Amino acid sequence: MTSTNPWSLTISEAHNLLINKKLSSVELTQSVLKRIEDTEEKLNAFVTITSEYAMESAKHADKIIAQGKSSLLTGIPFQAKDNICTSGIRTTCSSRMLEDFIPSYDATAITNLKNLGAVLVGKGNLDEFAMGSSTENSAFYPTKNPYDIKRVPGGSSGGPAAAVSAQQCLFSIGSDTGGSVRQPASFCGVVGLKPTYGRISRYGLVAFASSLDQIGPLTRNVRDSALVLQAIAGHDKMDSTSNSEPVPDYSSNINGDIKGLRIGVPKEYFVDGMDAEVKDTVMSAIGTLEDLGASVAETSLPHTSHALAVYYIIAPAEASSNLSRYDGVKFGYSHAESTNVWEALEKTRQHGFGPEVKRRILLGTYALSAGYYDAYYLKAQKVRSLIRQDFDKAFKDFDLLITPSTPTIAFLIGEKMSDPVQMYLNDIFTIPANIAGIPAISVPSGLIKGMPIGIQFMGPYHSEEILLKTSNAYEKSTHHSLLAPLI
Ligand code: GLN
Repeated sequence: MTSTNPWSLTISEAHNLLINKKLSSVELTQSVLKRIEDTEEKLNAFVTITSEYAMESAKHADKIIAQGKSSLLTGIPFQAKDNICTSGIRTTCSSRMLEDFIPSYDATAITNLKNLGAVLVGKGNLDEFAMGSSTENSAFYPTKNPYDIKRVPGGSSGGPAAAVSAQQCLFSIGSDTGGSVRQPASFCGVVGLKPTYGRISRYGLVAFASSLDQIGPLTRNVRDSALVLQAIAGHDKMDSTSNSEPVPDYSSNINGDIKGLRIGVPKEYFVDGMDAEVKDTVMSAIGTLEDLGASVAETSLPHTSHALAVYYIIAPAEASSNLSRYDGVKFGYSHAESTNVWEALEKTRQHGFGPEVKRRILLGTYALSAGYYDAYYLKAQKVRSLIRQDFDKAFKDFDLLITPSTPTIAFLIGEKMSDPVQMYLNDIFTIPANIAGIPAISVPSGLIKGMPIGIQFMGPYHSEEILLKTSNAYEKSTHHSLLAPLI
């Protein structure tokens, strides 16, 4: 057994102890479960804690390690957002609609992690069906920010971000449709990566907006992000949109220098209403990157101001179609006291969905209706192409772009719940990467008034290696990722 608390280890640290027999997966998992027990009452980062299942998996992992067959994730405790299907384990999407839904199969990302011997300790809380930026839309309870429990952890992967930040697991996997991995990562002081669209299979990720959804890792540092990405990236015949590009060895190239790297600063990402201190953080990060040998210059993504509007047409439109399957017959909740099938359908959806999900379904159905389709959905798709072209042009001159991850630090619980537009504005810097399908990462860049904040790097399709290398160089010279909340 080591002298440090096993729950506080990074994946790489834990792996070294595991293979050198200084720590067993059973000990590590017990320590993580105890940490969850000690902190969960304050945080509510989990929907389900799978203690027994985790201990069984840990015993199995120890056997694999004893046989000398371990991989980097063997025996490592992790959490998965509760919209990622886990066979035999409840997958609720933090919705009444799926409160008792137990999938009969694993998402491909989960299968990959299980095959490597990673240990699932539970499922992370989220905004219902991943719609939100604060986890306040969970049908069960809001998750709290480990740095200040009066504040939100961000969303929709608020449970995963809070759990990794509070060291209730060594990593988590979330989903990012418009920023749901990166925004909570920024608010909770952890690393959040949204890979290129199609890099990770979406099979078994409960669909929100299929042309935007992507699974991504939340980790304590950049190296761990590379390790998790490595484990879950790759083509999957179960997801026709998954990409067949070969998966590079993300962690082996992570330590290179960034001399000569060309970094662009899109001027449209410095908007009215953002905290002056957030801007200062980005400026100081730019200074660090220049010291590391990168060249930094201003660039422009002229259609950025339309990204939010485009997202709030396309995402609800796809959601209204995806969520039509919840009819009380095929999945989950079914309203019992109805006299006919239409009433059953209506009541099931009335009681099964919360207010934000209903708002999105209404918005989406409207945008897709005959007579409005051309004016909204088609127009939004055209502007989506323009936003993509902005990025294509910028990446002719720059290897990657730097922006703030979020306009502000984590806000207070309840502060934005009565004003959906204020809530939506949170995603203003993260949404464009989903619209274009490009990879983006949020990396901790220090504290403002005691609360964490992240910077975002965006790169061209399949530039994860360079994003990770740059983030790692930045992390190594600033050490912001080493901060941890006192919880
Ligand atoms: N906050 C955004 C929304 O509510 C993004 C959500 C996400 O990425 N899943 O739609």
